[in-house]
Amino acid sequence: MTAATPPAVTPSATFTLTLLPGDGIGPEVIAEGLKVLRAIEHKGIATFQVREALFGGAAIDATGSALPDQTLRLCLESDAVLLGAVGGPKWDNPRATVRPEQGLLSLRKQLEVFANLRPVRAWEPLLDATPLKRDIVSGTDLVVVRELTGGLYFGQPRGRREENGTTHVVDTLTYSAPEITRILHVAFRLARERRSKVTSVDKANVLTSSALWRELAIDISKEYPDVTLDHILVDSAAMQLIKTPTRFDVLVMENLFGDILSDEASVLAGSLGMLPSASLGEGTRGIYEPVHGSAPDIAGQSLANPLGTILSLALMLRHSFELEDTARAVETAVEQTLDAGYRTRDIAAADAPFLKTHEMGDEVVRRLVL
Ligand code: NAD
Repeated sequence: MTAATPPAVTPSATFTLTLLPGDGIGPEVIAEGLKVLRAIEHKGIATFQVREALFGGAAIDATGSALPDQTLRLCLESDAVLLGAVGGPKWDNPRATVRPEQGLLSLRKQLEVFANLRPVRAWEPLLDATPLKRDIVSGTDLVVVRELTGGLYFGQPRGRREENGTTHVVDTLTYSAPEITRILHVAFRLARERRSKVTSVDKANVLTSSALWRELAIDISKEYPDVTLDHILVDSAAMQLIKTPTRFDVLVMENLFGDILSDEASVLAGSLGMLPSASLGEGTRGIYEPVHGSAPDIAGQSLANPLGTILSLALMLRHSFELEDTARAVETAVEQTLDAGYRTRDIAAADAPFLKTHEMGDEVVRRLVL
């Protein structure tokens, strides 16, 4: 699902992919994503030209920049980017002029990805891994569509000033109608491929930006008569997400609301390590990455769960390469691996045995039926 109609794909298609392993557990989980990709290639489904590049803290150490020119060039020439994670204590000094997160923001901007998709599914075998009640979480299958390049995080003016001995601060929530329209279209098109329901999240009772958001959602919904639209205030959405998550299919919202609610929704999946994401623009190119960070506390110990990365790869197959059947096969292999009882430490019961990162990747590949 992308904003433009992707080209038809033949079985012999060749795709160019840039891997950005990044920092901490990034290289460990990306290795497992690549393992799955090579298994798909081995079956003759497609050919993948894979290049690896420096990104994040590792790139700062090597070049002084979190997104070196060479890395950006490779990403711009690629059909898709698969990213591990960036950051860690070594680069955490808030006073540092160059920080790993700058690489992330700059990459998103340069690749013009404005729609962040975070699917959240409650995997039946992992229902006991969430802190919520089993009967509330069971059956959850939703996608948070977050606007990624506008709103409070980018609006001007912003800043801090002193006046008559008092500190004043300002952040600006700004959107144009085209920015809102394009993200709403992403949500409606995505809903068509799912259960045909869009929930638009806003704060229309207070914010003018939300009033326009709601107005446009109603207008655009007329182009999608087969999709049901409802509206929910963001405070109510925060409550309903953990009270009745199964009522949602596609939720669409502005940047700040999406940042907060997508993290809340992640609790439904049992572990941060299970969650994939896709960042899409107008074309078919996207950035795919697990939702988690670089997890410095477990880096280098083979304790990382690679399933969020493998599921991000499935999103890449679906949205950038139009290989829907192959995407589903990867998701089924993950489900069957969990059904068979295999766990990494983050999703294992206390004192239960668990697999190393690369062993989990092997189990998924073993169950990949293409
Ligand atoms: P984190 O997601 O790295 O870790 C939070 C907790 O979840 C840790 O206990 C970690 O061990 C666990 N965890 C995360 N991913 C896991 C996985 N795949 N398998 C098993 N356990 C997993 O968040 P944090 O500790 O707040 O941040 C660590 C660093 O990552 C910071 O420098 C932060 O800035 C950065 N970060 C990067 C991204 C990104 O690259 N997109 C996102 C969030 C945080």
